[in-house]
Amino acid sequence: MPDECWFAEGARVSVLTAEPIGRPLDYLAPEGGCFLGAFVEVPLGPRRVVGVVWGAGDGRFDAAKLRPVARVLDVPPMRDELRSFLLRMGEYTMTSRPAMLRLATRTTGLFDPPGSRRIYRIGSGAPERETEARAKVLKVLHDHGGAGFYLSELAQLAGVTPQVVKGLAKSGAVEEAEQPRDLPFPRLDADLPGKTLSEDQGRAAAQLCAGTGAFGVTLLKGVTGSGKTEVYLEAVAECLRRGRQALVLLPEIALSAEFLARVEARFGARPGEWHSGVTQAERRRLWRMAAQGDVQLVVGARSALFLPFRNLGLIVVDEEHDTSYKQEEGVLYNARDMAVLRASFCDAQVVLASATPSLESWANAAAGKYARIDLHARFGASELPQMHAIDMREERIESVHWISPTLVGAVLDRISRGEQAMLFLNRRGYAPVTICRACGHQIGCDHCDARMVEHRFLNRLVCHQCGESKPIPAGCPSCGVEGKLAPIGPGVERLAEEVAERFPNARVAVLSSDLFGTARALKETIAEIAEGGADIIIGTQIVAKGHNFPKLTLVGVIDADLGLQGSDLRAAERTFQLMRQVAGRAGRAERPGVALLQSYQPEHPVIRAILSGDEEAFWKAEAAERRAQNVPPYGRMAGIILSGPELQPLFEIGNELARRTEPLRRIGAQLFGPAPAPIARVRGRHRVRMLVKADKGAPLQAALRAWVRQVKVPNAVRLAIDIDPQSF
Ligand code: ADP
Ligand code: ZN
Repeated sequence: MPDECWFAEGARVSVLTAEPIGRPLDYLAPEGGCFLGAFVEVPLGPRRVVGVVWGAGDGRFDAAKLRPVARVLDVPPMRDELRSFLLRMGEYTMTSRPAMLRLATRTTGLFDPPGSRRIYRIGSGAPERETEARAKVLKVLHDHGGAGFYLSELAQLAGVTPQVVKGLAKSGAVEEAEQPRDLPFPRLDADLPGKTLSEDQGRAAAQLCAGTGAFGVTLLKGVTGSGKTEVYLEAVAECLRRGRQALVLLPEIALSAEFLARVEARFGARPGEWHSGVTQAERRRLWRMAAQGDVQLVVGARSALFLPFRNLGLIVVDEEHDTSYKQEEGVLYNARDMAVLRASFCDAQVVLASATPSLESWANAAAGKYARIDLHARFGASELPQMHAIDMREERIESVHWISPTLVGAVLDRISRGEQAMLFLNRRGYAPVTICRACGHQIGCDHCDARMVEHRFLNRLVCHQCGESKPIPAGCPSCGVEGKLAPIGPGVERLAEEVAERFPNARVAVLSSDLFGTARALKETIAEIAEGGADIIIGTQIVAKGHNFPKLTLVGVIDADLGLQGSDLRAAERTFQLMRQVAGRAGRAERPGVALLQSYQPEHPVIRAILSGDEEAFWKAEAAERRAQNVPPYGRMAGIILSGPELQPLFEIGNELARRTEPLRRIGAQLFGPAPAPIARVRGRHRVRMLVKADKGAPLQAALRAWVRQVKVPNAVRLAIDIDPQSF
C-alpha cells in the first residue's frame, strides 16, 4: 500500500490498538478523514484508547454499526516501512501486533492529552520551606541539568505527589512552562574535517562509504583503540551527505558523555539522544523530528530502533556482541538482529562494530553473508596489552584476601610511576553469600531462587534478581543465633576494603552500577578518573565498556575463572569477550599496558586462548563445537519459559506439551525439558523451561505456534517464547 494513502470521512478503516485484542478493529474515518498510519483515538467499549490506522476496514461489518474514530492525534503518521518492520519483527519474535505497537510507542510520551504538555524545570526562586519531598524533586531536576519534565513523570521519578511539584512551581523554585513546540535539532556538518585517518582506517572508511545507499551488513572488527569509532563516523558523514538519517546504537547509552562529545567534535553539533535517561518531553520531540526528517543522527539505546525515521540510511551497532542488546522482558528480542531487519526495509546499511564480535556475526561473515573489515593495529603508538596468567595455586594468599602478591607488586609498581591500575571483579556488592556459622543457613531472597547479596555501603542485603532489599539482620533468620552471620567470597565492595588495607595511600574509585544514584553521577566519576583522579579503579562489568582512561596501564582480573562455571554453551564465548574487553582498557595512550589474569586453572583452553591472543583459532574451535552440537549460530533454538505462582501447573503444561510434539517432529526439531529454569523462581513466580532445537533452515516459528496452540494455558500461567535465547 502506498504511503500517502488517505481515507475520506466515513470510509472504513481498521485500527490497531495496544489493547490485548489481537487484531485491528474496524471504525469509520472521522470528519476531515485520516491518513493510513495516523495515530487516532477510538472508542472501545466505554473507554477511549489510542491506536494506529492500520489499513482499510474489511467490509464484513455493517457500516451502520461501526463507530467513528474519535479524533486524529497531532502526531506524524506511522509510515508503511515502520509498520512492515513491526509486523515482521512480531512474526519473528512471536509477538502479537498489539504488543508490538506497545513496544514501539510506550516510551515516546506521545499519548499524553494535549493539556498536560506543560513542562517543569529548575526555576530561579527558592522554596520557602525545604521539605524532604521538595528536596527530592529538586535533586531529580538538578541531576538532569536543564531538562524539562512532564508533571507526572517528574513526580514519579522523585517519588512524590504532583502537588509537591506544583507547590514548588508556586514558590518559583521550579519553573512551569509550555513545552517549546518541536524545535528542530541543530544541523550537523558532515563536511567538517575529520581526523586524518591511518592507511588501514582510510581503507576501511572508504569501503564502508562505498556501501551506503543500499542494504548490506558489515562487521567492523578491530581491537579496542584501533579507531573503529573514527571509521564508522566517516560512514555516518557519508550517509548525512546523501541526505539520509543515521542511527548509532550503544549498549550503555547512559555512559556516553564522551561519545557525544566526540560526535559533536566531528560534526559541530550534538546528535539526538534516545535512552531511559532522556525526559519524556525530549523523547516526544525526538520522535517527531525523526518522522519529519529534522534530526540527522540519533545516538540511542536499543528502543531507538522503533523511531519513525523518515529516511534512515545507516544503523551502527557498536559493541555488537554486548548481551544488553537482548531485551529479556516483555518482547524478547535482540536489537542487533532487529537492526539488520529494520535496515532491510529501508535500504539502509548496517555496521556491526566490535573488538570481540559475537560468534553469530563472526559466522555470518565467514559464510559471506556479511562483509568484514578488520582493523589490525591500535591507532598511533599505543600497543595491545600483554596478557599473562597469575597461577593462583602458586601464590601465597592470606585467608579472606583475593589479591595475589604478584598482583599487589604490579599495582604498586604502576602507582609509583604515576599510572593507574584497574582491578576487575564481575560481582556487585560486598559478598555474594551470607552464611550462618551456627546452622549453615544461607540467606536467600523470599521471592526468588537466589541468594541475598550483602551491600555494605547500603548496609542491606539485596536480591540481584528482583531488586528486593532488607536490612542485614542481627541474628540468623533460620536458627536465631546472633552474631554468627558471615560474608563468604568477594564482591567489589569487599575488594575495596582489601585495597584500602594494602594500598593505604592510594586514591581509590569503585565503579559499580549500584553505587551511583544517577547516570550523571557515574559520568562525572568516570570523567574524574580519566583526568587522573584515582590511582586504583575497582570495577564490575561497567568498566569493560569503552571508556578511555589514558593513564591506565595495568588491568588485574581478580577471578578469571568466574564465567567458566556452569553448563551454558555460551560460557566460553562470554568469558573470552569479557576478558579481552577488560584487558583492552589498559595502555590506551602512549604507555604500554599489561593485563594479569588470576586463575586457578590457567591451562583451561579458554584461558589459554585469551592469553595467546589467537582469536581466529578460538572462534574456529568454538564454531566447530557449536556446529557439532547443532546449536546457534549453526542450528536454531528457542526457549519456552512457563511461569506462574505455583510450580505444579507449570510442569503439567510442560509435560502435556512434551507429550504432543508432533508439530515439532514434523520439522525435525528436538525438545528438551521441561526442567526448572536456570533461575527457578523470580519475584515469587516459579519458572520452568523447555528448549527446542532445530536445523538452520527449519520453519521454527510456525512449528512452535502449532505446537503451543495445542494446550490451554490458564490465566495465572505465562508462556513466553524466546527465539535465539542468550543461554542454552
Ligand atoms: P575504537 O572505537 O576501536 O575503540 P577509537 O575510534 O575510540 O577506537 O579510537 C581510539 C583512540 O584513538 C581515540 O581517542 C581516537 O580519537 C584516537 N584515534 C583513532 N584514530 C585516530 C586518527 N586517525 N587520528 C587521531 N586520533 C585517532
Ligand atoms: Zn528476589
